[in-house]
Amino acid sequence: MKLFAIFGDPVSHSRSPLMHNNVFRELGFNACYTRIHLKDGDRLRETFFRLGLDGANITVPHKEAAFKACDEVRGFAKKIGVVNTLINENGRLVGYNTDADGFLYAIETFSEIKTVLIIGAGGTAKALSNKFVDEGLSVTVLNRSAKRLDYFKNMNLACHTWDDMPLKTYDLIVNTTSAGLKDDNLPAPAKLLNNLLGLCRFGADVIYGKTTPFLQLCAKLNVTAKDGSDMLLGQGVLANNYFTGEKFDLNMIEEPMRKSFDF
Ligand code: NDP
Repeated sequence: MKLFAIFGDPVSHSRSPLMHNNVFRELGFNACYTRIHLKDGDRLRETFFRLGLDGANITVPHKEAAFKACDEVRGFAKKIGVVNTLINENGRLVGYNTDADGFLYAIETFSEIKTVLIIGAGGTAKALSNKFVDEGLSVTVLNRSAKRLDYFKNMNLACHTWDDMPLKTYDLIVNTTSAGLKDDNLPAPAKLLNNLLGLCRFGADVIYGKTTPFLQLCAKLNVTAKDGSDMLLGQGVLANNYFTGEKFDLNMIEEPMRKSFDF
């Protein structure tokens, strides 16, 4: 039997064990997935091998530590220095990042996306902006404060704060801030968001488990929108594809994984 786990601090809230165990059971793949509460990211590699794991997912705050723990990092994870999936390849630790691809997987039904406005300038915004640029999309970043915009200016992206944001049309607006997670805030002033969403076709929020004020506004303005559970599902489907050795079609993995989403 193969053994997988998610490492994080905290980790008790994670839905990954349920998501992956559902897939293993329904596809008849002989494996088990558990959770490991890891406080010290420097002990990730040693713990992974001591437990005899075949693979793992990594969540907050160890994604950068996971990058450092790898013998080899592949694809997009290499570019952004952030790993969320580990595979034991004959005793070598190989790292991937499925978060941003998971987001693209989640919005596959959104047609003809060419221009994107990302609200927020944190870690998630960095991953998504790099992926969107790789995909040839035109990306603009809007953040509450100017400081964190430097990273995106260095990528030559159009960057704005609430004060100097022009009114333009975007195909997709993504909320990557934590506004709405534990409060009832919109990620930008209501008037500005009303105007921007009024001009766009699709919305997405990376927060899951609740209808955020951002998503409520999308609904009010008839903007087709998805919440973060689709992104969570997308990264999980792609990680499971690595765990099961790319043996199953993605939609075969998605179906049982979706059943574990009861929110
Ligand atoms: P960071 O802490 O790196 O960045 C937070 C960003 O949010 C900053 O740009 C900050 O602006 C902005 N912000 C925070 N509060 C407000 C507010 N009240 N109004 C406007 N802007 C605000 O966060 P992460 O990128 O790591 O995570 C962001 C969210 O993404 C979290 O809610 C997390 O749960 C979610 N997430 C979901 C995933 C999924 O699978 N669905 C995967 C990964 C993350 P400033 O610079 O001005 O402080």
